Amino acid sequence: MNKVWISNEQSSLQRIDSKCIDCGQCLEVCKTCNGLKDGDCIHCGACILKCPMGALVPKYNYKEVLANLHDEEKIVIASISPAVRVSIGDEFGYPPGAFLEEKLVGVLKDLGFDYVLDTTFGADLTVMEEASEFIERLKQKKKPMFTSCCPSWVHFMKKYHESDLDLLSSAKSPIRMQGAMIKTYFAQLKNLNPEDIVTVFLTPCVSKKSEIENDCFCDYVITTSELAMMIREQSLDFKTVLERKFDSVLGKGTSSGLIFGTSGGVMSAVLRTGYFLLNHENPPQDLVELSSLKGTENFKEMEVDLNVCKVKVAIVYGLRLLNQLYDSLKENYDLIEVMTCELGCVGGGGQPIVPINKKEEYTRERGKSLYQQDANETRFSYENPEIKMIYENFLEHPLSTKAKELLHVPSKER
Ligand code: SF4
Repeated sequence: MNKVWISNEQSSLQRIDSKCIDCGQCLEVCKTCNGLKDGDCIHCGACILKCPMGALVPKYNYKEVLANLHDEEKIVIASISPAVRVSIGDEFGYPPGAFLEEKLVGVLKDLGFDYVLDTTFGADLTVMEEASEFIERLKQKKKPMFTSCCPSWVHFMKKYHESDLDLLSSAKSPIRMQGAMIKTYFAQLKNLNPEDIVTVFLTPCVSKKSEIENDCFCDYVITTSELAMMIREQSLDFKTVLERKFDSVLGKGTSSGLIFGTSGGVMSAVLRTGYFLLNHENPPQDLVELSSLKGTENFKEMEVDLNVCKVKVAIVYGLRLLNQLYDSLKENYDLIEVMTCELGCVGGGGQPIVPINKKEEYTRERGKSLYQQDANETRFSYENPEIKMIYENFLEHPLSTKAKELLHVPSKER
């Protein structure tokens, strides 16, 4: 077969057979980016971005979301991932990387969502839990720890390195943490019945549709490109929509949460908080900026001085390369960030389709746009006032019994 194999039961993507011309480009990108064996799909959607005919598309869920929006009994809550706010503009004629956070909140309100929250809050929570787990593992001399917020990478581990699953951080991804907090803490604060709440996550990622399949806190994932279809079908004019602010609580993240949307962001955020947890003071500037990173575009590494100890860290995107380096990564590093897509989630398979010769430029501009915010905003997850509040009033502390129950994946469920 000259094309990627996609099962009908797949929750992430689908092929429109009548559009397929059997050119084989989907299969080629699958092999060159991820080195997958025929028939293995990790749901990343690289094939969607490569297909010249538009024959590969996300598995659409937006009509179900619209039906919920029309149901008066339901409280429908949207939460926006970092990389969506720097790519939605590609669908509506904005320059690449345009930062359209408040426009996006406005359009979701106009679509009828009852609350619009920010997944950067969920990302800050992931940072708190993952950094605490990393410090705990360091103390127990358990190394390395691989990040786990990219579901395609987790699928890859299950297929090709199943015996190493305990090397993945147990922290849930930002959308899953956000979902758990919406249906517990947020519901409690707003006096809502969790059974009436429908959670909808706007993400750059098709793979997230597979990630939430058995998650009782997360109901729908809508990709950036799917959101654009929804906006058009409801005849909204994105350019003239009024800008609005996120709702509170769970509507405020720091720039540590924001840079999760691009390669290097998770590493940077986790090290900043890890340093604070070990030293009870803010990290030095070179650690915040990871200014000593060395390497190639898709593989970078450095030794980081955490004051009480030094650790070796690596950042990789693209699973073919990851697999080539796998044994050496396991042997030589303490913390490894892995993302499947080009430059991380800004290059995700659910992002708008742009001309193939401009794809790299668009992806780069989206990443730059997220990092530009890093200079303006609060940069440390542990300084987020809403994060402080949720630990004080609900979760107690990172890795508490409650935090483990709601925010971590038990190893037997991997
Ligand atoms: Fe999804 Fe991001 Fe992983 Fe791509 S890198 S599969 S967009 S989580």
